Amino acid sequence: HCTPQPSPSIHTPSKPVMPTPLVSRLFQPSNLREGQEAGDMTCRSQRLMLQAGLIHLSNPGCFYYLPVALRSMEKLVRLIDEEMQAIGGQKVDMPALCGAELWKRSGRWELMGKEMFRLQDRHNVDYCLGPTHEEAVTELLASQSTLSYKQLPLLLYQVTRKFRDEQKPKFGLLRGREFYMKDMYSFDVSEEAALHTYHSVCHSYRRILDRLCLKWVQVQADTGNIGGTLSHEFHLPADIGEDRLLMCGNCDFSANVETVALGQTDCPQCHTGTLTESKGIEVGHTFYLGTKYSKVFNATFTNAQNKLSVSEMGCFGLGVTRILAASIEVLSSEDSIRWPGLIAPYQVCVLPPKKGSKTNEATHMAEKLVESLENNLPNLKGEVVLDDRTQLTIGKRLKDTNRLGYPYVVVVGQKAMEEHPVFEVLCQKSGETIFLSTDGLLDLL
Ligand code: ATP
Ligand code: MG
Ligand code: MG
Ligand code: MG
Repeated sequence: HCTPQPSPSIHTPSKPVMPTPLVSRLFQPSNLREGQEAGDMTCRSQRLMLQAGLIHLSNPGCFYYLPVALRSMEKLVRLIDEEMQAIGGQKVDMPALCGAELWKRSGRWELMGKEMFRLQDRHNVDYCLGPTHEEAVTELLASQSTLSYKQLPLLLYQVTRKFRDEQKPKFGLLRGREFYMKDMYSFDVSEEAALHTYHSVCHSYRRILDRLCLKWVQVQADTGNIGGTLSHEFHLPADIGEDRLLMCGNCDFSANVETVALGQTDCPQCHTGTLTESKGIEVGHTFYLGTKYSKVFNATFTNAQNKLSVSEMGCFGLGVTRILAASIEVLSSEDSIRWPGLIAPYQVCVLPPKKGSKTNEATHMAEKLVESLENNLPNLKGEVVLDDRTQLTIGKRLKDTNRLGYPYVVVVGQKAMEEHPVFEVLCQKSGETIFLSTDGLLDLL
């Protein structure tokens, strides 16, 4: 007989106490002095991101993502995760180092040309650094001998670095050679089911861009070297965009110029409207692939009649680092970053006054305020920074906070010392400055 052992006492360590982030301690090295140019391959978001210490250039098209930018990117990834998982997406992470053999089988080892980073291992076996993962994911599915129709649709996605030896890396994170993409791959039992999946992913993409409060357009697109028969791109309208888009003034027709006979000015859909051209930054791209890859790799499942059937596929890319930079590009002014509220690196910056003989009390109040915001509003945990550089005037620090684009800046000034203390609150979105008590501020936030 075994005597039951008491379960080992589980020692749960208490959570670490996170100190308030202090502006003086943020690693935010400016890579560009005010007025200095970033070179000719530059654009607003690149210049602002370098100036504010968000990114640092390593090699052409390769960047360090510094702490403040990374906070924003992690928020963006969480938002994307929510939307992908809401439609059944399961997150995976596939190797960046991809064997050439798979790419030779699909025919893309040749087709990708110079855009592919190629290398060899010590045994002289060819590899590439993954520019996209259709081959890898289809091979993964093909290796599953027991996949049943009951397990479909299957949606696998990842958020990983992609490598493309772009001919002209430029505009900072907008066109990198090493960048983050969210790529999802879907496997379905039939064309009908695959198209249903296709449309639900397009719907999620629209939701993501809406939640970021970005203006977007969805256009019919070319399938390029990925292939397939149905494809859409999602663009942020912007003059520096490298894609030309055509929109009908009469109906809902919209397309990348690549899909329309050039020179065409009348709408191919309603035949009455005229097409007007504008420019966009491509942030997402969806493809209905059919069996293009699943046939080659023999990615099959057992259908309801207990027979093997080839999966119907789709693939769906979203440029994570590109969305980050593109949203800064379209929302910011020449010298101040503006973020989609949901992905601003920090939500609130609290500014105590410049150090002086009568300011100890105000500094203490500023610290208390941060504490009370964090304790009363769980959503603000870790989201409030204290600009403790009190050797600088409030004016000088306000210039910095404006440049970084905190959604809310709270100045603890003269009026905070009065009998009924109020704080000066700068709301970046409305451009308003209002005076609020602690309770008023809690309500606002
Ligand atoms: P582009 O036309 O700008 O070269 P693409 O059509 O080659 O992009 P896709 O293969 O459709 O790109 O990849 C899916 C998404 O990945 C794109 O919609 C874009 O958001 C992002 N992306 C592609 N290339 C880059 C890059 N060089 N830097 C940053 N993001 C990129
Ligand atoms: Mg490209
Ligand atoms: Mg493109
Ligand atoms: Mg594309």
